[in-house]
Amino acid sequence: MRRRRFLSRSARAAAGVALAPALRAESAPAFDLVIRGGEILDGTGAPAFRADLGINGDAIAAIGAIPAEQGRRLIDAAGHAVCPGFVDIHTHSDGDIFVYPTADSRVRQGVTTEVTGNCGSSAAPLLGAGAEERRKEYLKDDLRAEWGDVASYCVFWEKVGCSLNHALLLGQGTLRANAIGAVNRPLASDERAAVLRAVEEGMDQGAFGLSTGLQYTPGRFTPREEIAAMARVVARYGGFYASHMRSEDATLLEAIGETIAIGREAQLRVEISHLKAAGQVNWHKQRAALDLIESARAHGVDVLADAYPYTAYSTGLSILLEDWAVDGGRQAMLARLRDPAQRPRIRREVDANVLAEPGGYELIVIASVESEKNREVIGRDLRAIATAWRVEPIDALLGLLDEENGSVPFIGHAMSEKNVDELLAHPLVMVGSDGRSMAPVKRAARTRPHPRSYGTFARVLSHYARDRKLLDLPAAVRKMTSLPADQVGLRDRGRLAKGMKADVVVFDPLRVRDEATFQEPHRFPAGIPYVLVNGALVVEKGSHTGRRPGKLLRRG
Ligand SMILES: [Zn+2]
Repeated sequence: MRRRRFLSRSARAAAGVALAPALRAESAPAFDLVIRGGEILDGTGAPAFRADLGINGDAIAAIGAIPAEQGRRLIDAAGHAVCPGFVDIHTHSDGDIFVYPTADSRVRQGVTTEVTGNCGSSAAPLLGAGAEERRKEYLKDDLRAEWGDVASYCVFWEKVGCSLNHALLLGQGTLRANAIGAVNRPLASDERAAVLRAVEEGMDQGAFGLSTGLQYTPGRFTPREEIAAMARVVARYGGFYASHMRSEDATLLEAIGETIAIGREAQLRVEISHLKAAGQVNWHKQRAALDLIESARAHGVDVLADAYPYTAYSTGLSILLEDWAVDGGRQAMLARLRDPAQRPRIRREVDANVLAEPGGYELIVIASVESEKNREVIGRDLRAIATAWRVEPIDALLGLLDEENGSVPFIGHAMSEKNVDELLAHPLVMVGSDGRSMAPVKRAARTRPHPRSYGTFARVLSHYARDRKLLDLPAAVRKMTSLPADQVGLRDRGRLAKGMKADVVVFDPLRVRDEATFQEPHRFPAGIPYVLVNGALVVEKGSHTGRRPGKLLRRG
């Protein structure tokens, strides 16, 4: 970071910065905690300025020149940047947070709020058709998922207690599956009414909006009109719509068109989740995608996107199957895979889907498996696995899907570096990890997940802002703080200002660095010594304190 010259007292006053009253030394300390001597990046994108931060309880009480004796506790932030806690607008932690309530992968990089329930899939409501199967899934982590509706999920969350804040989205796929299961058909009118009621109920109980996952089952079976109807309900509540779109490759531009159209029809804030152009043959489409977003905004659609700072994505192998093959859900898919009459067609289609990308099977790296016998495939690509197994790569892929009960997370190397650079520097793109809360223990320790869960925010600050200067530090911090906070509708987070909640990160702009890699993803970043959540130290001198001051945030 280029060091900013400190602003004079009068310049700070002119900039609207509250100055702490000059209290006499013998008076009692005015603040629970004072963070002294740092360079404040307030989250708005404004240049850094030197000031102290006074915190009382869970809120920021003053920003200005604060004498040391005014703090019952002091943090010396000299040589460090002080900024709002990062709001990760795109995560999948709504089940994992109960397994890893200290959220080490997130708070160690400065994330203090996660938006969960993305890509059409939310932990709540857990009701109706598929609820029992989903409860069984949670048992793999010894988690007894005792919630039903959103309100009971919130109660469950608060009983567990977590180290960071959560804001929930309603997963459209979850609501549809709760109503009719994972079948490929439009909703009947009574079913549609039930789904719309579920949206109302979830929003009433505190959700911040609706997400879709239109490449997943059953999101992919949902007609646009059905989504627009749900989005109109969300709009009435002032919520937002986040979409993992129908395509991120061949029909990327059509998918962006659909997402924007829903925003225009329903008149609500829209977020394009993990924007990318996947596959070499589609890389050139990214510029046109950004043009569509810019033009929609110019015409009054409140649309933003999020992106993570890596050239690989991560999802499950079943995404490679065509609609007919996954109709009815996981068990139906497995039955087709095992049926000699249907398997050849699946084999042909999936093979063509993978080989559409030059490099094909080598670009697909297995992230985790459940069974002991397949353990050796973790971290290896499908071509290497196929060679070891002496089979065709397509048969290695389908074999794994079969043996792992239809669920095989993988990492797909598919984006261009130049495109990722362009996204992260773009003013309409926020930083979102698409990761989850975890720690290098329990089940997570036996997997090799995408490094984004541990590294995203530190990587943007170091690799993209400091080292390569693709954007300046205030702009990078804005993409992680006020921009997502505004998009979600969090009015008291995302900025450092008097009265805002004291979610704060203290980092060393010269030393901050992501350490997580595709080979070793469970590594914490360096250069982030202090993280506060609701005024409490969750990271102190670079270590997790074990504290759990997080709040389940509710819209309103
Ligand atoms: Zn997604």
